Amino acid sequence: VTLTEYVLGAAAGFGDKVALLDGVTGERITYAELATGVSACAGALAALGVRPGDVVALLSHNQPRYALALHGAIAAGAAVTPINPVFTPAEIAKQVTASRAKVIITSEQVAEKAAEVARQTGIAHVFVLGEPAAGSGLRGFDELRNSGEPRPWLDIDPATTVAALPFSSGTTGTAKGVRLSHRNLVANLAQTRVGWRITSDDVQAAVLPFFHIYGFTIILNSGLLGGATVVTLPRFELDGYLAALAEQRVTRAYFAPPMVLALADAPGVENYDLSPLRYALCGAAPLDVAVTERAEERLGCLIRQGYGMTEASPGTHQVFDSDFPTTPPGSVGRLSPNTEARLVRPGTNIDVEPGETGELLVRGPQVMLGYLDNPEATEETITDGWLHTGDLVRVDDDGVFWIVDRLKELIKYKGYQVAPAELESVLLSHPAVADAAVIGVPHAEGGEAPKAFVVPKAAATVEAEELLTWVAQRVAPYKKVRQLEFVDAIPKSPTGKILRRVLKQQQA
Ligand code: ATP
Ligand code: MG
Repeated sequence: VTLTEYVLGAAAGFGDKVALLDGVTGERITYAELATGVSACAGALAALGVRPGDVVALLSHNQPRYALALHGAIAAGAAVTPINPVFTPAEIAKQVTASRAKVIITSEQVAEKAAEVARQTGIAHVFVLGEPAAGSGLRGFDELRNSGEPRPWLDIDPATTVAALPFSSGTTGTAKGVRLSHRNLVANLAQTRVGWRITSDDVQAAVLPFFHIYGFTIILNSGLLGGATVVTLPRFELDGYLAALAEQRVTRAYFAPPMVLALADAPGVENYDLSPLRYALCGAAPLDVAVTERAEERLGCLIRQGYGMTEASPGTHQVFDSDFPTTPPGSVGRLSPNTEARLVRPGTNIDVEPGETGELLVRGPQVMLGYLDNPEATEETITDGWLHTGDLVRVDDDGVFWIVDRLKELIKYKGYQVAPAELESVLLSHPAVADAAVIGVPHAEGGEAPKAFVVPKAAATVEAEELLTWVAQRVAPYKKVRQLEFVDAIPKSPTGKILRRVLKQQQA
């Protein structure tokens, strides 16, 4: 089964039920419209010459028509490469070129950038979701859709045909193109569906970007598969977000850590009626337990974490709906169905002793075909089907997993390893701290030592010395933060990952 057949197989049957709703403009697409729209779009793209093996680039913030473009392209047999719309034209061109995209589907807001990229790269086809600006020479997506012939019959092998080419976040280096097959993505949707009973009674809030695999699979496609209403928001802004949760009676929310941090400390959350909210999921980066609990209290809903990565479509660990109350906050739950895990001594193939931390390796049908044009990296990352996650992890006796931190980001002080996430958590527990990030900086005796960047709360006055002592009183001596700088904001990726390489560059 192809990704689109799987996700939208039942769509026509949901009829006039709203599949996608724009949380800002109110624009809506019903399931019946989605089914016919996708079919028309696929037919039109096929008539344009798009064939299996081709790539269509998607450059847009979250909006209902994103799903039409995405599934239209996939139903035409193409792979989609979703691109961050805030990228510069040069960054967009890089992904477009690397993925060898033939068509760009974009939004009104960034159509000009798309047009510039098309000129630079020689791409002949750019379509705008919505109305292209007068005189821009760009074609509207509706025109494309209406020109459609029936959707082509696809004779492809789901196990070997790429459906999506998302790029990893580039947190630890250059973003890598990830080749995900139809089978990979279908498998991950099926795996999550076992534990998350998303139904047509659900309303999902979709503010995390669809161009990232978390938004793509877990928020958008899982919602459509379940027959839910997916409420799209172009960006996270606390009041607008809370208003959308309340107005649309959202039942499932999907967070990244900065959203939870904002919710934990924002007065006024209580002014919104969030009573329909039943499940809130957080992923993409470490989430502090105390912050989780403060946000849970304000939301009146438990927040549990999932874990995964672009290379795994993305989910490998999750908390089933039924396990929300019994799963400890701070953990990422259990292995997803049909997924295996091993913990090894980093850099070896030797399993650690039970209870010890080790590098997590995962194996399952959701693990990527490989990186784009990078067989060496693929070979290094996948051995005998085992995907090396690069994350340091432990598992408790109940089979619940805990992410310690990324191996690459551990700070080596003398012979010891210090996890930045642990120090960030201690800093966040100080009442004057709004946000914090820790990196390793050169240190005379230690080789490398922790340095903290701290965003103080608006009304707070606090000295660096007080915070250094606060940490020193709460951790082993080798973990002490040895330098501290106050900053206005912590650099983060669109899914809320701390960009430590940016902080490091600022040091150099
Ligand atoms: P790159 O691989 O390009 O450096 P990236 O690893 O950040 O970037 P993604 O695939 O978006 O790209 O993110 C996967 C990573 O996110 C995981 O390897 C892990 O480090 C982190 N992660 C995901 N979920 C969690 C979680 N719940 N807790 C802690 N870390 C998480
Ligand atoms: Mg990664």
